[in-house]
Amino acid sequence: MRLSQFHLRTSKETPADAEIASHRLMLKAGMIRKLAAGLYTWSPLGLRVLRKVERVVREEMNAAGAIELLMPSIQPRELWEETGRWEKFGGQLLKIKDRKEAEYAYGPTHEEVITDFARAELASYKQLPVTYYQIQTKFRDEIRPRFGVMRAREFLMKDAYSFHLTDEDLAREYRNMYDAYGRIFTRLGLKFRAVFADTGAIGGSASHEFHVLADSGEDAIAFSSATDYAANVELAEALAPGKRAAATETMRRIDTPTQKTCEDVAALMGIELARTVKSIALMGVDAENNPQFVLALVRGDHVANEIKLAKLPGLAEYRLATEAEILEHLGSEPGFLGPVGVKPSVQVVADRAVAAMVDFVVGANERGAHLAGVNWGRDLPEPVLVADLRNVVEGDPSPDGHGTLGIARGIEVGHVFQLGRKYAQAMGCTVLDETGKAATPAMGCYGIGVSRIVAAAIEQNHDANGILWPESMAPWRAAVCVINPKNDAGVAEAAEALYRELNAAGIETVLDDRGLRPGVMFGDIELIGIPHRIVVSERGLAAGTFEYRHRAAAEAEQLSRADVIARLQATQPA
Ligand code: ATP
Ligand code: MG
Repeated sequence: MRLSQFHLRTSKETPADAEIASHRLMLKAGMIRKLAAGLYTWSPLGLRVLRKVERVVREEMNAAGAIELLMPSIQPRELWEETGRWEKFGGQLLKIKDRKEAEYAYGPTHEEVITDFARAELASYKQLPVTYYQIQTKFRDEIRPRFGVMRAREFLMKDAYSFHLTDEDLAREYRNMYDAYGRIFTRLGLKFRAVFADTGAIGGSASHEFHVLADSGEDAIAFSSATDYAANVELAEALAPGKRAAATETMRRIDTPTQKTCEDVAALMGIELARTVKSIALMGVDAENNPQFVLALVRGDHVANEIKLAKLPGLAEYRLATEAEILEHLGSEPGFLGPVGVKPSVQVVADRAVAAMVDFVVGANERGAHLAGVNWGRDLPEPVLVADLRNVVEGDPSPDGHGTLGIARGIEVGHVFQLGRKYAQAMGCTVLDETGKAATPAMGCYGIGVSRIVAAAIEQNHDANGILWPESMAPWRAAVCVINPKNDAGVAEAAEALYRELNAAGIETVLDDRGLRPGVMFGDIELIGIPHRIVVSERGLAAGTFEYRHRAAAEAEQLSRADVIARLQATQPA
C-alpha cells in the first residue's frame, strides 16, 4: 500500500472526551470515528488492525476444530421467550419492530439462535461433539458506553457454542477452547491472565474470563505471587487468619459525637483502621421465610462483598435494612451500630478476619458513642456464623495455598463458559443417544471481544508518541519513508524498490510517498504504531545504507538492504 493512495487522517488534537489512552490514540490515529454513543465507524486504517485480530482468532478456532457459520443479528422475540430472556436480559437488549409490528431483538449474544439451529440440524449423537463459531456484530444497549470501542454498544465478537452428549465431553472441549484462547492471546502479543469467574447470573458450572492486564481495566483481579492462580477480586476467597490473640483491654465507651464512619472513629482515637469493625444492617429471610434482621461485620479497612454475602443462608436476595428497621432491631441509628448487647433475634455474621480480632472498636447502638476494647466471648457471645464476607486485598494469602495475592486491573477480552443443559432444555433441543433415546445435549459457550482486543492492545502498548503495535496486529509491519521524493528521483526509485522487495518477502510494508516533511511523516508513522521504520534519503543512498528504527528503540541504526530484510524476517509473526 502507498500512503498517497490510502485514507490516512491523523489528528494533532487530543480529543476532549477520551478518558483512556486507547480511546485517545485510536481517535488521533484516525482508526475510528464516532457516529453516535457507542457506535463507531472503523476507518480503513482501523479496519486493517481489526482484520488482523480476526484472522488470528479464526485461524486458532479452526485449528482447535471449531466450525465457522454465520447467524443473523436480528432475532425474533419468540426465541427469546422460550428461554425467558426476552424479559430477563434487561435493558441491554435492543428491541425492535418490523413493519408488521413483529418484535425482534438485535442480538447481544446467540445462545438462542444456535440452539434453534442445533435442534433443527442435530439429530443423532453421531453428530456430537461439535463446536460452531462465528465472528459477528453484536449490539448491547450498555448503560454507559465509554472508552471508544472498549465498551461500545455495537461491537464485533467471536462467539462459539459447543454441544455434547456428556458432561465429561463438555469439560474436555472447555479445556480445548481454554487452551485455544491462550494461543490466541499469545499470538496477539498480549500480557493476559485466565481468571476464575463468577457463574452467578447465567447459571453454569465452570467459567473463566481472559483478561488483558492494564491499569485502565474495569475489573480487579487477584493473582498469586507463586502460581498461575487468578480470580476476579469479587470471587477470590479470603482465607481465615491465624488464631485469635488474648484480650488485653477492657471494654470502654468512647464519645463519638459526629464520628459515624470507621475512618472517622479511627482518626479520632488515633488507631489503625484495622482495629475497627463495620456493622452492616441487612434484611434477609429466616428458615421459615420470615424477614430476618442481620448484622454483618467486616473489618474497618475491608470491603464487604455482595456476592459472598448473598451466598449466606437467608441472604440470597438480601437488601440493606431501612432506618426504621434499624431503629426497631437495634434501637439506634446508622453510624453507631454494633453487635454488643443485641437482642437474640438479631443474627450476627462475622467475617473470618473479624472473628479473629481482639480489643476492637464497634458502634455502641447509641447515638454519639462507640465501644473500644471489645472482645468476643467476654463482651459479646462468640459469633455463631463466621464466613468469608469481604474482598481480598493485596498481601492476603493466595487461596490455593501458595504465595500471597497481588491485585491487578484487567480488561475482559474473552470468556469461556460451561452452560450445561439450561438452554437446550428450555428450547427442547435433543439428539438420539446410542440407545435411541432422546438426550438433551450439554452446551458450552466461548466469547472473544474482537473489537475490544484492539483497544486493549493499545492500553498495553503505547507511549507518549502513540501506539506500538505487537507485530501480529500492526496495520503494516514496516513503513518505508521517502525523504524529498520530488527532488530526487534516485531516492524515490530506491524506496520503491525496497518497498516492493519487502512485500515480496512477505513483510507487509507501506510506502510513505506523501512527500511530507520528515517530522510530520515520522510523527504519523509513530502515532499509528508501525513497528519498523526505514528511511530512504539521499545521504543514506550515497553511503549504501538505510536508516532503520524499531518503534520502541531510542536510536536509529544505519543498515544495509540485506540487514533490513533480515531484521524484519526475524520478527515475522506466525
Ligand atoms: P463486560 O463484563 O465487559 O460487560 P460481558 O461479561 O458482558 O462483558 P460476555 O457476554 O462475556 O461479556 O461477552 C464476550 C466478550 O465480548 C467479552 O469478554 C468482551 O471481550 C466482549 N464485550 C462484551 N461487551 C462488550 C462491549 N460493550 N463492547 C466491546 N466488547 C464487549
Ligand atoms: Mg463475560
